[in-house]
Amino acid sequence: MESTDRISPKLGKFRPSLTLGLKAIANERKSKGLPVYDFGLGETKGNLNPVVKEAGIQAFKDEMTMYADPAGMPELRDAVLDWLALKEHYTIENVTITAGAKQALFNMIMAICNPGDVVLFDAAPWVSYAPLAYCAYAVPVMVLSLEKKDNYLKVTPEDLRRNLELRPFSKLFLLNSPCNPTGQLYTAEEVEALLRVCIEHKIFFALDRLYWKILFDGRSYPEPRIDQETKPWVIQVDGMSKNFRRCGGLRIGWCVAPDDVSRAMINLQSHYTSGPTTVSQQAALAAITSDYDTELATDLENKRNLMQKHCKDIPCVKVFPTDGSFYSFWDVREAFGKKTPSGEILKNSDDVANYLTRDYGVLTGSGMGFLQNGYLRLCFATPDETIIEGMAQARKAFESLK
Ligand code: PMP
Repeated sequence: MESTDRISPKLGKFRPSLTLGLKAIANERKSKGLPVYDFGLGETKGNLNPVVKEAGIQAFKDEMTMYADPAGMPELRDAVLDWLALKEHYTIENVTITAGAKQALFNMIMAICNPGDVVLFDAAPWVSYAPLAYCAYAVPVMVLSLEKKDNYLKVTPEDLRRNLELRPFSKLFLLNSPCNPTGQLYTAEEVEALLRVCIEHKIFFALDRLYWKILFDGRSYPEPRIDQETKPWVIQVDGMSKNFRRCGGLRIGWCVAPDDVSRAMINLQSHYTSGPTTVSQQAALAAITSDYDTELATDLENKRNLMQKHCKDIPCVKVFPTDGSFYSFWDVREAFGKKTPSGEILKNSDDVANYLTRDYGVLTGSGMGFLQNGYLRLCFATPDETIIEGMAQARKAFESLK
């Protein structure tokens, strides 16, 4: 049945996931016995920490399967404050445990945005930010960075100020650091400067810090300043999905927010999920209260180095430096207008991603999913052989362009 008013317009703006389309092409190659080098989905591999596994098993054995506090287990909310070293500033009333960081972001946007309010994101926003804003009938806007030093898509305070002056209904600036997809980390000075602009304009400063433990070259995480001035405006989102091995499917995230925002988020959550799965919460509690596996970041740093070594000087590709996360971000605009061996002219990032997957089995994420035509995202949380062989294929692909 075809009718334009059967589906709400807020969902009509969603773009179908390109990664799924590329997966289908990759699967077709696999069915023909051709190799595929998967740099697509962003997920840490390796074994689940036995402490986490045992906690989940024990939770079932103890039949911890009844309804619980919709805001999350008090012990876990308390442990989150220790995990983020925020105990001196907040109580558990400021913490909501959610079904992944995604739901924390959703609750937050629903809690603070009226229809028509503007939600500002940093350049190259993660794929679900805009759809989450549409769900609240808010207007997602990407803050373009005018000054692109070394093609590094960082938003400056001037960029943010310019956008806020143009858009008086802005309610929130959402910063992702380290950033998916660019791998960039905002320094303490940069975070502070952006936070100041938000406070000046009385808008919320939300920090998505989902990759904050995965930092390279000896960096430590630049925490936002929390004091009387900033506390009413700062919201922090984090969770289990990236900083721990194999934990994305536990679906546990959390949000630390000012009193009023936190209350609204918890009220909302009490009406639509009643809180995340109790068994997963027990597993998360074990994860954030036991010794942290610092080898995860070391492994990923080695993979980042291997990736950078093998993608050095690929024609038409400028590779971003990766400060943290597990993504290599490539500027491939030089490939636009060039012809593939089968005669196709590459016009945008989707074309480049399609060409790499279809003809060379190199599965990447097109920058268009991140509102950045001209770029590709490659997840290097993948076996070393995949990196070495995949980069050799990517090199061939770009060398074959005319
Ligand atoms: N924020 C960012 C930047 C992400 O990369 C992701 C997941 N890819 C999320 C939020 C959502 O995380 P979760 O799987 O915990 O919902």
